[in-house]
Amino acid sequence: MKLDGKVALVTGASRGLGEGAARGLAREGAAVMLLARDGDLAQTVAQGIVADGGRAEALACDVTDYPSVERAVADTRERFGGLDILVNNAGVIEPISSLATSNPGAWALNIQINLVGAYNVVRAVLDGMLAAGGGTIINVSSGAAHRPLEGWSAYCAGKAGLAMMTRSIALETAGQGIRIFGFSPGTIDTDMQVKIRASGINPVSQIPRGDLAPVEHAVRGLLYVCGSASDDLIGQDVSIRDEAVRRRVGLQ
Ligand code: NAP
Repeated sequence: MKLDGKVALVTGASRGLGEGAARGLAREGAAVMLLARDGDLAQTVAQGIVADGGRAEALACDVTDYPSVERAVADTRERFGGLDILVNNAGVIEPISSLATSNPGAWALNIQINLVGAYNVVRAVLDGMLAAGGGTIINVSSGAAHRPLEGWSAYCAGKAGLAMMTRSIALETAGQGIRIFGFSPGTIDTDMQVKIRASGINPVSQIPRGDLAPVEHAVRGLLYVCGSASDDLIGQDVSIRDEAVRRRVGLQ
């Protein structure tokens, strides 16, 4: 197994892509720490991984709360003896609303989770990874980082900020063993898409559920990025929609 002996931390691991990533990493042999605000749900996923023969634990953690993130990272290192892979996946779509009528508090909370929260987790893991001589960080991105969509101003702005943060980290850590990527998972069948469909506000909301990609396709892409075959893509926003990436991942 390619990830035997590795330790991974996955944020937003209680459902959707984060759950799939945690299961996939564990299948490949990594010990996985799962984080989500709903610690009980994350714990249920972790127990399922253990029942399938994997190594996993879970902690309740809100990525907007830096002290809580720091504690979760320290706990992960203590329980599993290190930290090699971060899947920085926690994210929210709401508020779905035109900017003119948006709720300022809800708008700020989106940025607080999708951008500042992602920063918090990188900030908490990076020193240790540098001291250990390296590690892999995957910031879960989106097509929305690169194009505006009606009603998603907070989400688009946060993901665009995250994409620039990924590039900034690549610049600052070059040559120090840090494998940093953005990863766009495509339009996948998760709870987030249920909220998007219910809004009816832009073309993404019109995509029928049957046309969404399964989470497992995105997980295959994520796992590919964890391995050295993707070293030439370090620093980039890797998109599962990219035909060349799909070929490399084995999705064609
Ligand atoms: P999802 O089903 O709604 O799951 C989101 C996860 O994030 C949940 O586990 C949630 O758990 C967690 N989370 C939310 N806020 C959090 C916080 N403050 N602290 C810690 N955990 C938090 O969403 P998804 O579709 O799997 O999305 C996962 C990632 O993929 C997101 O970054 C999203 O932007 C990105 N993405 C998704 C799609 C898509 O089509 N679904 C497309 C492009 C990009 P709790 O609520 O318990 O905290």
